[in-house]
Order: sequence, then C-alpha cells, then structure tokens
Amino acid sequence: MQTILHTTGDVVLRATPTDVECMKGADLLLADGIVQGIEEPGVLISEWDATDASKNITLVNVHGRAVIPGLIDAHTHLVWDGDRSDEVALRNAGMSYQDIANHGGGIQRTVHATRSASEERLAAIAMQRASVAVRHGTTHIEAKSGYGLDTETELKLLRVGASIDGAGTLPSVQHTWLGAHAIPHGFTERDTIDMLLDEQLPAVLAQGLATATDVFCEPGWFGIEASEELLRASKNEGLEIRMHVDEFQDGGGAELAASLGAVTADHALKSNDEGMNAMAEAGVNVGWLPGTPHMMGIDLRDPSEARGAWTIASDFNPNCPSLSLPFAASLLVHKCGLGPGEALAAVTTSAAQTTTRSDGLRQGSIEVGAVADLNILRSGSWIGWCNSPGHSPFEATMVRGTMVHHENGLTPSSNVFPNIRGE
Ligand SMILES: [Zn+2]
Repeated sequence: MQTILHTTGDVVLRATPTDVECMKGADLLLADGIVQGIEEPGVLISEWDATDASKNITLVNVHGRAVIPGLIDAHTHLVWDGDRSDEVALRNAGMSYQDIANHGGGIQRTVHATRSASEERLAAIAMQRASVAVRHGTTHIEAKSGYGLDTETELKLLRVGASIDGAGTLPSVQHTWLGAHAIPHGFTERDTIDMLLDEQLPAVLAQGLATATDVFCEPGWFGIEASEELLRASKNEGLEIRMHVDEFQDGGGAELAASLGAVTADHALKSNDEGMNAMAEAGVNVGWLPGTPHMMGIDLRDPSEARGAWTIASDFNPNCPSLSLPFAASLLVHKCGLGPGEALAAVTTSAAQTTTRSDGLRQGSIEVGAVADLNILRSGSWIGWCNSPGHSPFEATMVRGTMVHHENGLTPSSNVFPNIRGE
C-alpha cells in the first residue's frame, strides 16, 4: 500500500547535535514500511496522479501538523512485574535504598514478582507498555532483561522482548541481556559471575536471544574486575557491550567502558573528567537517563559534560516507570538549558548510532530508504515536541508505515486530522 502524507507543517528530516534539517511543508511517499519519496508540497501528488482513485494511493491530509522522526529509546527495562510505588513514601521518610531492600523492597521484590509471573502475563504487560511507548512517539526500544537474575527467568524475559519486535504497530526491539543487574539473594559476586559465565551466557547465546550484554557496574553491585570479566567474555562471543556506570558513586566504570570499547555507558552521573575524556576518545556514547535522578530526588547532570556523543533515554524501570522520551528530554531542556533540537538529536540520530534493528533498516531520520517511523505533532511547529510533560505532544505515530492515531485509533484516511489552521 502506498501512502502520501501531505499538507504538513514543519518536517524535520534530520536532527543532529548542531543542526535541525527541516522543510517548511513537504509531501512524504511511504510504501512497504519505507520512506520512498520526499518532495515539496504538491509534487508527489501530481507525479503519481494520486487523486485518481484507480491508483489506490492513500492520501493523508495532516492539515498543517509538524512531522518528526520516530523516537528511539536506547535504554529501558521493559519487562518486569510488580509495583513498588509505595517505596516513594519510604524514601521520602528518609529510608535509604539499602534500608528499603532490608525491609523486603528494592530490586529483589521486583525479581520475586517477575519470577512468579507466567510468560503469558509478562508478554501482556510488555505489549501494554510498548503501546504506551508508541503513544509517546517511541518507535524503537532497547529492552534489557535483568529482573529474573536466574537463568530460567532471564531467558523468559528475553523471549518476551523478542515477541514484541516487529509485531503490529509496536516498536521494534533490540534485546540486551542484563543478567548482571544485581547479585541474587544468597549469592556472592564471585558465585554470580561464575553462574553467569558457566550457565547463563551460554544459554543466551545458544538461543540467540540477545545482541548485547549489559552490566550494572557500580560499587556495591558489580565491581570493575567482575564487570570486565563478564563483558570481555560476552564481547568474545560477538555481543555488543552496554553498561550502567557510576550512577551513585564514581567507581571507575567510565574508564572501563572506554577500555572495553562499549557502545554506550549510561547514567554516568558521577563519572570523573578523566573517565568522560577517555569515553569520548574511545567513541563510547554517554546515555543520559534524567528520569531516574528526577524520580530519586538526585541532581541531574548537565548533558554538555559528556565530551563526545550522548543520548537521552527513559530508563523505564520500577523506580522510574515512565516511557515518555518527550518527558525525559523536557527535564534536560527545562532544568539544564538544553535546546529542543539537541534533545531531539539525542533521541533520534544519536540514539540510532547505539542501537540496531533486527530488520536492518535505517532509523532516526526521515530520508528515502529509511524505515517509515515518524510522529505527527498536534501543532505545526516541531519545536514543542518536548514542551508538554504529562501529555503526549503527538496526535499520531506511524510505525513501519502504518498509522496509529492516538485520539481515535483510526488508520489513514483524509478526514482523520481535524483542521488546525482555522481555514
Ligand atoms: Zn537502567
């Protein structure tokens, strides 16, 4: 099926950290899930004689609305069960993370709930969350396991992530194995690494369930030596390296990420200047996850403190259960003075550099040959894409060329979008 999107407002073709390439109105030809043509207004309709019904081209008049690329969430913990909302009050009453864990809360509580859940239940939870992500403009998700910790449950979480990838109008998914998310109850760090190396990594590889390995590298969780041992073994087996580093303390995670050639090292709230420089020199992306410090009452870090490439992601998890990239970006725009264009680059072209799609398609920009993942805003200007926290700025999202209209669930027709121009 061919679709021509026309009568647009701004069309952001590509946002980079230094520039937003934008057309003031464009027609987009989409077919087979791919962007096939981008022209000045009116050109494609006449070229394809698209008003002739026998051509069977769907014309979608978006009545002046802006169009931007689909957003890429390059760090999520998408699949887990349970609810830890009550821990907010405990934290506010002065309990530390460790105090809460000692009272049966924290990650082990999520692990218990997740191990108890059936695969069908987890799949339903994951699909519901993925559809929320689409409503906030996300068309590709990096999804980590990590709330099972034992081999059986970790494999289950990775299978659930795989079941979403490419399904209907849900985002595409990159699967990351995060067996080293925490030390299981009753284990030492050494026991855990041995179990991960001897049992879990071979099982993940044998079933082809992940393209990357992640480690929670932080003093008190996994130290430098343990993280390095697991990550080197993973890299030798062809898995990409992604890392959680220096969230609460500077534990030297940034330097390790640089020495291992990690694709991305995320959080980095406490990474020192030498570590930041080493990551930039080694081409390691810094993943800023502003929703988590916001929810934990910790200061955000100015994203310009990364010396090289950086991205913004949601870090969706039980302590930060938000899948809204416009919200995550707004935190840095409104609290750290980041420009909306820089923020857009961080969730599109820059994020595309750190994640891979199983279908191999290009993403993060609107260009001929790229996947037809894009967002239609409520207004004619792209600039408000991260200026309405608590509300999705998007009226519709196209996933692989199929429209999801967030107001009415309709697929394309010429009268889906009410006229916002007052004409
Ligand atoms: Zn995380």
